Amino acid sequence: MSGSEFVAQRMASIGSSGVRRIFDLAAAMKDPIDFSMGQPDFDVPGPVKTAAVSAIQEGRNKYTVTHGIVPLRERIGQIMRKEFGWDPAVLITCGVSGGLTLALMACVNPGDEVLVADPCFVSYRTLVRLAGGVPVSVDTYDDLSLHPERFVAAVTPRTRALIVNSPGNPTGIVYAEQEIRSLCELARRHNLLIISDEIYAGLCYDGPAASPVTFAPERTLLLRGFGKDYGMTGWRMGYAAGPAAIIQEMAKLQQFTFVCAPQPAQWACLTALETDVSAQVAAYRAKRDLVVNALSERFAFVRPTGGFYVFPRVPQRFPNATAFVEATIAKNVLVIPGCAFGDRDTHFRISYAVSDDRLAAGCEILCSLA
Ligand code: PMP
Repeated sequence: MSGSEFVAQRMASIGSSGVRRIFDLAAAMKDPIDFSMGQPDFDVPGPVKTAAVSAIQEGRNKYTVTHGIVPLRERIGQIMRKEFGWDPAVLITCGVSGGLTLALMACVNPGDEVLVADPCFVSYRTLVRLAGGVPVSVDTYDDLSLHPERFVAAVTPRTRALIVNSPGNPTGIVYAEQEIRSLCELARRHNLLIISDEIYAGLCYDGPAASPVTFAPERTLLLRGFGKDYGMTGWRMGYAAGPAAIIQEMAKLQQFTFVCAPQPAQWACLTALETDVSAQVAAYRAKRDLVVNALSERFAFVRPTGGFYVFPRVPQRFPNATAFVEATIAKNVLVIPGCAFGDRDTHFRISYAVSDDRLAAGCEILCSLA
């Protein structure tokens, strides 16, 4: 008995599609040059670790209130006032994934359409479906800019919300301010909620990313995280900031699901917000430059300006990205084919959050295939 008869029907709509085969192949790799990990290669800063250890030793180990500890929420409130002159309600979440899950469950009715860019972060379409909604992909190829006019064309009477992610995964692209502004105007015209996933806001290399909060604070739900900025993806920390009615419903749902974010990590995040990670950001900027220089002669791609990804087109001699990734795996380099992020399989994602020598060695191998 495999147990499959106990699996709910909704799981059928959640596929790992073409990528499963890649992960099966990758599982057999020995010490690969791994460009597949969407997380920093640096460790959590010392003072942040110390703050977590102290919290544990001081007995701050129990549940907190659902919304999260007051000092952390107040500090985030200050940051929002300073950055945007904005006074949103705040909920501490279990990573940005927790925030996304709660937001979509709280805001999407069955059959509602949610616009997402194609390509986009792997979870968006799945989580929209889980909430009973219909993800509607808006093609942003070939330049991978936001193309607000294509979002306009995708709006129907069922459109409820749109998800924007800048700097973006898998592209590393920071959208132009004008595009964000146009998207906000569109959202206002059609009364749409904007879910702004700004998990990479701290990792911008050529100036800060424009946020929808600046142009449409009344309809933006901002999601940010601590994992990428402070190398603590495993601590599962993030926050949601936005209209009180939405945050209240998300908190209601958090009460029955995640309950609260881990208490010691909440205290440590208070320290994280005072910790200077500019050296890490500078190191990532240098890695970005390294990868751009190493690949630019052999690959076509949009120069990334944030996060730690680059999303080149696969060389012409390969029929698709999956075939290309099979070839890179044969050379012991692991990258992710574009089909993981949307409908096309023409590009591949490199995460350059690896040591400089591995980055250089891996780029050389990729170039040898191009
Ligand atoms: N959004 C984006 C765009 C991401 O890249 C990721 C992580 N790869 C997440 C959300 C999820 O972040 P967390 O680990 O905080 O849940």
